[in-house]
Amino acid sequence: MKKIRQPIIAVLGHVDHGKTTMLDRIRNTRVAEKEAGGITQHIGATEVPIEVVKQLAGPLLSLWKGEIKLPGLLFIDTPGHEAFTSLRARGGSLADLAILVVDINEGFQPQTIESIEILRKYRTPFVVAANKIDRIKGWKIVENEPFLVNIKKQDQRAVQELETKLWELIGKFYELGFQANRFDRVQDFRRELAIIPVSAKYGIGLPELLVLIAGLAQKYLEEKLKIEVEGPARGTILEVREEVGFGTTIDVIIYDGTLRKDDIIVVGGKDKAIVTKIRALLKPKPLDEIRDPRYRFDQVEEVSAAAGIKIAAPNLEEALAGSPVIAARTEEEIERAKREILEQIKSVIISTDKVGVIVKADTIGSLEALSKELQEKNIPIRKADVGNISKTDVMEALSVKEEEPLYGVVIGFNVKVNEDAEEVAKAKKIPIFVGNVIYKIIEDYEAWVKAEEEKKKKELLAQTKFPGVIKIFPDERYIFRRSHPAIVGIEVIEGRIKPGYPLMKQNGERIGVIKSIKSKEDFLQEAKKGDQVAIAIEGAIVGRHIHPGEILYVDISRDDAIRLVKELRDMLDETDIRALKETAKVKAQKDPFWSAL
Ligand code: GDP
Repeated sequence: MKKIRQPIIAVLGHVDHGKTTMLDRIRNTRVAEKEAGGITQHIGATEVPIEVVKQLAGPLLSLWKGEIKLPGLLFIDTPGHEAFTSLRARGGSLADLAILVVDINEGFQPQTIESIEILRKYRTPFVVAANKIDRIKGWKIVENEPFLVNIKKQDQRAVQELETKLWELIGKFYELGFQANRFDRVQDFRRELAIIPVSAKYGIGLPELLVLIAGLAQKYLEEKLKIEVEGPARGTILEVREEVGFGTTIDVIIYDGTLRKDDIIVVGGKDKAIVTKIRALLKPKPLDEIRDPRYRFDQVEEVSAAAGIKIAAPNLEEALAGSPVIAARTEEEIERAKREILEQIKSVIISTDKVGVIVKADTIGSLEALSKELQEKNIPIRKADVGNISKTDVMEALSVKEEEPLYGVVIGFNVKVNEDAEEVAKAKKIPIFVGNVIYKIIEDYEAWVKAEEEKKKKELLAQTKFPGVIKIFPDERYIFRRSHPAIVGIEVIEGRIKPGYPLMKQNGERIGVIKSIKSKEDFLQEAKKGDQVAIAIEGAIVGRHIHPGEILYVDISRDDAIRLVKELRDMLDETDIRALKETAKVKAQKDPFWSAL
């Protein structure tokens, strides 16, 4: 039998923008009539029955012509983009819809942008809750009422300020490629992002928010939400945890089918699929019925999607958060489920001998998201695994470092760094990049790579001689001293010279080293094409080795030449290149290497 299930809804946004407050407010929504049925607490999720939405909505329902047939809305209790990325299903996100919470006074922040990027990637439709409108100067709070009721009570200045702030948001969305508008001005919900001004704290605009989500799901997701209720269940592990009296349990969101107490389930473990038989299906006891905190759960016989449920079963110790749960009733179904799960795990948890970075994340879903992001940036991955950063990870990065220093790092999303790992990393100078905003972690890594490259270049630069061609002035007046050291006036014809550079004649014979460069009274660290300076040459005697009017060259080495054309190419300007060509001609008389340059 087919039925339409509740859409699963996630709440995302920057820290402190009000995600938790919003979820709390939704959980505590009260409706007048008893028959409406209450909001029910699932494991890890909260269900708002459609009657509640309809009651709250009143005349707002007319926003959606046509009937809403959904049974309700299922909100995932853990907000944030970390949880969202963790909760994968069907190769995408477990959530059918999302609410992006933005503090209207603070606007876009790093986690707002991260959330939008993630929603875009997963193609998850979302609405925007522009939160904390009660903070707008002069706003008169009409608690628990729709935004459209509130706005009528405001004076012109507050309305104006709200509009200005909304425009700023709309502008930001536009920069990211989204058409956004205040929800009551949206013409086409498929093409425009709806912004609902709300105050989570005072319940303003929540009726509209719920109605909009319900309507969007009904209108655009109906097909996706139609499920074969009786079919074997499918879900995603939210969390693996110990429960007194039950051992290791898994908290699961079921998004398809029905899970029965006597079902066999297949779940993802670190490097295997775990097949196990359900011992108990647990749901939270209503708060007012908990007398003894040890008995916080009620056992149920079965549960149908969409729902959040705790499963007690043997052998769940190694189950992985974020991995799929598939119920199976026949041998064949078990085998198929095992294959599917193993395939998924193997595509995410990788272990190779490649020269690449070490990646860690808290769940299989977030690991996949982070790895994908790195791959898109062409950053090779040696190992990707779930869990905190361990000493082994750092040691592995160390072995990579020996081959390619820029990849000898550990990158972690939403994980801790074990103490011993931290110690080794410090001692062996292995950088660890951790955080909870994927693009920030990658940005940090890229910034480090850039700084390392600059450093290396600086070192190379210090080691490398640049080519230069100079001419001793023909006039004897500019021979200031003939020997020990010889001091002569010159002009740099091409390229550059520096103190310490050796000089050679046109036939390739080395005649001495530049000891110093002087212009008027100043000693210079460098002279470039066109500069007329005096140089002291250690080792050369005027009249014997060098003569007025003679052309001399910086005697660069093969290594210099190779570094110049390879690593330091962008440091060479036209005159350096001409100097290099002329130098190569001189050197080629004795060494064929230079004719190939
Ligand atoms: P989260 O980190 O996104 O989950 O944010 P919280 O829900 O914890 O909220 C952060 C702070 O903002 C708390 O002090 C809330 O009381 C406050 N807050 C949340 N929503 C509102 C709102 O609508 N108006 C006002 N004035 N404060 C709010």
